Amino acid sequence: DRSLAQADPEVAAAVERELRRQHGTLEMIASENFAPLAVMEAQGSVLTNKYAEGYPGRRYYGGCEHVDVVEQLAIDRLKALFGAEFANVQPHSGAQANAAVMAALLEPGDTILGLALAHGGHLTHGMHLNFSGRLYDVAAYHVRADDHRVDMAEVEALAHERRPKLIIAGWSAYPRRQDFAEFRRIADEVGAWFMVDMAHFAGLVAAGLHPSPVPHAHVVTSTTHKTLGGPRGGVILSADKALAKKFNSSVFPGQQGGPLEHVIAAKAVAFKLAGEPEFRERQERTLEGARLLADRLLAERGVGVVSGGTDVHLVLVDLRDSELDGKQAEDRLHRVGITVNRNAVPFDPRPPMVSSGVRIGTAALAARGFDADDFVVVADVIARALRPQVTDTELDALAERVAALAARHPLYPELQA
Ligand code: PLP
Repeated sequence: DRSLAQADPEVAAAVERELRRQHGTLEMIASENFAPLAVMEAQGSVLTNKYAEGYPGRRYYGGCEHVDVVEQLAIDRLKALFGAEFANVQPHSGAQANAAVMAALLEPGDTILGLALAHGGHLTHGMHLNFSGRLYDVAAYHVRADDHRVDMAEVEALAHERRPKLIIAGWSAYPRRQDFAEFRRIADEVGAWFMVDMAHFAGLVAAGLHPSPVPHAHVVTSTTHKTLGGPRGGVILSADKALAKKFNSSVFPGQQGGPLEHVIAAKAVAFKLAGEPEFRERQERTLEGARLLADRLLAERGVGVVSGGTDVHLVLVDLRDSELDGKQAEDRLHRVGITVNRNAVPFDPRPPMVSSGVRIGTAALAARGFDADDFVVVADVIARALRPQVTDTELDALAERVAALAARHPLYPELQA
């Protein structure tokens, strides 16, 4: 059979260029990571050919004996990794996992209460154009203006006022831990379900470096490709076995048809790797890198850090007092070879397309082997690049420092010709 390069040189060339881009730049988008080769090998396997509607042992198609093994491994490993009693590994993405949970627990028109998008929440936690905002009545809580921490007094007040059927913790851009026990107490007070979307910090939880939401929430969702470092995809977990049927039937046939067994195989591999000591060590470097970055940026005039620091894998740079806006900062960092995304900060006076912040994560560089010394250099480069008056010559010098760091940590050397 023909190779990709033979069958489709255009796609092959773009893939090759993407490999070079990933290798030659510093990937600091907080939701990204580098999947290990073993994960990509599983995902690129013959399992992509197989239809397997249903669940292991209860399929609507023949020939599922081997994908059953794979999916059961993924389920068992995920449960063990997070101490859960129930796991569904079929959601095609984090958004699908959230849609399935909401469809299982709610009726259209029911009220949900989640962190406002502008304060770090995710689209699927109630944004008006998303299914969550269109199907459900949305109430949103916020962070406090003084310390940028979730305002639990507001959560409690809104819970009593709006009587949500579902309360959501978890976030896409929030640099601190949330108090899951307090959320659950409030949910119990008003008879609401409590869901935690741990998409961003699942890897930290797996490594024991962040409190687990599993004992507190009725249900936990996650992506598998952020700090967890697996293939792109979603999962659903619960400490309550009694909810298994609700969630399983909501995923299939409720939301999806055939599961992506090749991706599920890659998830199984990622869950195995996440239980190994190297994974924990990598998450420790991730956290240390984020702390070093926050400290260095706080020393820079005109640059703030949302909440004054970080407990997780990301830093939210606050440029409300800078001449530079989020868009310009993103472009500046791109110019020196660092990939990030601009992001609104809480109480942002600039419009969302411009914004006053950038979200910077350290998980991908930690996967690439970056240690504290490397992160000190990265942090210094970022701080200098964000100075409003920086010159082109200075930016060229910063780009050289970035290129040297990238060269020191080859990415997928096995794949590079
Ligand atoms: N939940 C949270 C908290 C996220 O940050 C994201 C992704 O950014 C998602 C869910 C959605 O994941 P996916 O892009 O796989 O649909």
